[in-house]
Amino acid sequence: MPRPLSATIHLESMQHNLQRARAAAPQAKIWAVVKANAYGHGLERGMRGFAQADGLALVETENAVRLRDSGWIKPILLLEGIFDASDVPLLAEHNINSAVHNIEQIKMLEYTRHYRPIDVHLKMNTGMNRLGFRPDDYAAAYKRLRAIPDVRHITHMTHFANADELEHPRLTIAEQVRRFRFGAGELPGERSLSNSGGVLHQAELGDALSNDWVRPGIMLYGGTPGGRSAQDYGLRPTMTLRSEIIGIQRIEAGDTVGYGSRFEATGPMTVGVVACGYADGYPRHAPHGTPVIVDGVRTTLVGRVSMDMMTVDLTPIANARVGSRVTLWGDGLPIDEVAQAAGTIGYELMCALAGRVRVLEGRMGTDG
Ligand SMILES: *Cc1c(COP(=O)(O)O)cnc(C)c1O
Repeated sequence: MPRPLSATIHLESMQHNLQRARAAAPQAKIWAVVKANAYGHGLERGMRGFAQADGLALVETENAVRLRDSGWIKPILLLEGIFDASDVPLLAEHNINSAVHNIEQIKMLEYTRHYRPIDVHLKMNTGMNRLGFRPDDYAAAYKRLRAIPDVRHITHMTHFANADELEHPRLTIAEQVRRFRFGAGELPGERSLSNSGGVLHQAELGDALSNDWVRPGIMLYGGTPGGRSAQDYGLRPTMTLRSEIIGIQRIEAGDTVGYGSRFEATGPMTVGVVACGYADGYPRHAPHGTPVIVDGVRTTLVGRVSMDMMTVDLTPIANARVGSRVTLWGDGLPIDEVAQAAGTIGYELMCALAGRVRVLEGRMGTDG
């Protein structure tokens, strides 16, 4: 028998969440973001789960080609663009849309012959200060790009720093939109601004935020960038991490559990050992109290997470035994809740799912 740890991917939830994104931004076309192995779900599963998207966006050039090889015929966007002039023919050959965020990338397109039209997303830095041209320099970058004969459509793109909050004290969505409008002015071409946070706030922002293309990632995987809960937005978990109890210890007051003996029992209790540890992608920093479900009952982590195992409090679960089912996150236990307890975000947990974890496919509400 394999180790009882597995991640079940719910393709029907991915489809459902994509529909939620459509409903939230009905005017826009959707780039479903499948970078980082579709946020840990597997690139091919991303392709199948988001078959109804208008395009797929990612950052890994080799995976963009893999999508084409797997039969994806709709648009593909490289969110960081190309990394070397030798990538230019790849864009032309596989019809891959590329972000252009610096002058070096414009030069690569100028100096490399590509023979076929290339579509690009020109990126503006509206305050994130990661990638893109500043609003003042944007029109000049556009002009230079426009002069390259094989560059066809130019879409104007920016990225929000704080889309999880409507009124961030330092930099609001509205302020970034204002800078974007100033920089892009009346330049011809489509517009792409919103990540999940932008899509989820579309209703409040209305016409103040208009996109031809939105770029949701985390919401399609049943997580949120922060703020309200995924359930509040009608999003469903797409990844359920499950394992089993493989050992049980009955301990007394004063006994300690695990490395560092950090947890000390204050009275008699039952501790269950779960086959899942940080080498599987479970966060090592998850503290005592992080939620876990055993046999359908909510309980908590106790002691330190180790490489292959973690320990949980079985005291509230009368019938717990070796072989009891454990849910670490997903169906019945929102990943955002586990992430918050561990001081991180759902994104990191999904993406960190380790290669040794068996990945299955199955519907929510079943054992996968
Ligand atoms: C990752 C990424 C997204 C998706 O962000 P979410 O917060 O997961 O929705 C959108 N746009 C760009 C440029 C990205 O890099």
